[in-house]
Amino acid sequence: MEYSDQPPEFDFTHGPTEAERRAPSVFRNAVSDALKRPTKGGRKVLAMFEAQNPNGLVARWQRENGDLPETGAIREATDFLKKYGGRNCVRSWPTVTDLNDAIGVLEAALGDEPTEVKDVHWSDDELKACLIAYLEMLGKEMSGIDYSKSETNQILRDGPLKDRSKSSVEYRMQNLSAFFQEQGLPTIDGYKPAGNVGPSVLERLIRLHVEIGQVDPSDFAPSVDERTTRERSSRLRKAVREHVPAGNANPSRTERFGSSYVRDPAVVAWVLEQANGKCELCDADAPFLTPIGEPFLEVHHVTYLGKNGPDTTSNAAALCPNCHRKCHNSEDPELVRLELVQRIPRLTDHGSVAGA
Ligand SMILES: [Zn+2]
Repeated sequence: MEYSDQPPEFDFTHGPTEAERRAPSVFRNAVSDALKRPTKGGRKVLAMFEAQNPNGLVARWQRENGDLPETGAIREATDFLKKYGGRNCVRSWPTVTDLNDAIGVLEAALGDEPTEVKDVHWSDDELKACLIAYLEMLGKEMSGIDYSKSETNQILRDGPLKDRSKSSVEYRMQNLSAFFQEQGLPTIDGYKPAGNVGPSVLERLIRLHVEIGQVDPSDFAPSVDERTTRERSSRLRKAVREHVPAGNANPSRTERFGSSYVRDPAVVAWVLEQANGKCELCDADAPFLTPIGEPFLEVHHVTYLGKNGPDTTSNAAALCPNCHRKCHNSEDPELVRLELVQRIPRLTDHGSVAGA
């Protein structure tokens, strides 16, 4: 039997019917209570019991089948589960796999539909993806630019958070509000701070925030000024390296200021990271380094914003100044656009640039 010294970061519940399952909030409160008094084994038991109701499962088996067998899988499973409802569970938490195995044996015997306790331990990568998405939304909110929480949630679950439910991502965002509040930073309006975040998650968030360069949310704010966008994007490079920013699908509708468009610095940063100093059209090295030693390339919207192209990574390419000029001023800009769409796999065809 494997044990871990760390309690799982649970968000799981178990019970044969919806009504018998414990609400995640009951569990979280029990866990946070248990964590405040880690030496009191009884608290851990309470948390485990509240969450899993393992004895309920054992009791049901006994109601339906009589005495427990002396040996065998059922006996092992019930022994295991009873441990977590009893006074013996004082030193360690069971692993989720062991818990699922034991629960699975009883469920199969009772003819229940199998439920699975999910190992909700969030990986650093998952937390980081949430943290960056939070900063991105916050930056936009602070500068009064439209963004969609549910779209961001979906993008996260299409990518780095593919194993998470919509509501668990939402709850993480609320945890992040609590984290930001504690750091003395602004928070997103719609995410009420939820402070039931385990101390280990808090420590990790602090470390991850440093790891991505302690990015200020305002660096995620789109700007109409090219220089500002570039400065912000250069501070975002570390943060967006592994996480595709959402960008803005409708910049022409929502973000037009005079004759210019605001641009998302996270998109610029991500595209420059991908290009890694080489023009994505002609493969030439960037012609020079910027004052902070970054290769100079320009980020071009393949279908122009003025032609309703989105400000997203699927419509942006890093180009040397020559190629950038070629996209706008050559004899046939549409031909150049098609060449780009063909050359760069991440690009989507967002429509022609032909005509005035
Ligand atoms: Zn080039």
